[in-house]
Amino acid sequence: MKQTIRLIRYTAAALCLMLLLAGWSLWDPSSAVFAAGDSKDLSGITLEVKAKTSGPNTRITWKKVPGADYYKVWRATAPDGAKEKLNRKKVTGRSFTDKTAESGRAYYYYVRGFNDSSRTAMSASPEFTTVTRVYVETGHGIGTDGAWDPGCSWNGYQEAKLMIPIAKATCDHLKENGIYVYTDAYDDNNRNLNYTLDFLDSHSVSAFLNIHCDAAFEDAGTLPLFRTKAQKKLARALNRGVHEFVSIDDRGLEKRKDLTTLNSSKVHCPACLFETGNIKKDNKLLRNKTDEYGKGFAKGLCDYLGLPFTE
Ligand SMILES: [Zn+2]
Repeated sequence: MKQTIRLIRYTAAALCLMLLLAGWSLWDPSSAVFAAGDSKDLSGITLEVKAKTSGPNTRITWKKVPGADYYKVWRATAPDGAKEKLNRKKVTGRSFTDKTAESGRAYYYYVRGFNDSSRTAMSASPEFTTVTRVYVETGHGIGTDGAWDPGCSWNGYQEAKLMIPIAKATCDHLKENGIYVYTDAYDDNNRNLNYTLDFLDSHSVSAFLNIHCDAAFEDAGTLPLFRTKAQKKLARALNRGVHEFVSIDDRGLEKRKDLTTLNSSKVHCPACLFETGNIKKDNKLLRNKTDEYGKGFAKGLCDYLGLPFTE
């Protein structure tokens, strides 16, 4: 019996010693230092950062830094300007997509790699100008309630359908000139003004073009509508563009205070509601000169935005 007790005592003591040793090694400050020392010192490293356009966004890439566990990405509007951190979650890959940059604006991107005990130097990127984005809306169409709004009509022609080829041609020519276009033109005019306004409230674009044609009882010719000074500048550029390519009467520009397109507080860029012609008196032009209208609108927008245009 005594022997058994002794054996139990020895075993317990040995177990205690083992636990103590194990505990010590877990809490040993020197082993903690060893764990941190395991990660590489990144302080002498500077990443090379590249930025390029990806759809409406900007994609920032860099080479993997051996020893870095994650990265942080910043953006500034001047080389020595305040840096705004962009990533909310840890970035563990080698790229980040910036979806909140403004349309056609110059930025500087910065990336740093991190591990438990160190970080790389703050990288510097060359100046990068984000892609210019515009919104081209085909007037009327499918409303947010799902109902079809034809706009004005004459002899079986509906404004909402007649404007689709013109809007499409406009988008095609804008895209050819490197501009990113948000539009309903390729989707059979399936977004009405209310949808567009909500979209514009949360997306940065440089200009908003709303394409319409006038009712049969109105005069023939083009009529771009504006309310503010900035809108007038856009309207004038668009009118010049259209008249460069389409031979049609010019009714000048008209100031209007009663149009949602021009009044909405959800639109944060210059907007223009453009009456491309009269649904009856200019019907042939509206049907046959769609590519010319497209070129004219694209040229006008490029001129307004200070961007080069090629046909
Ligand atoms: Zn209309």
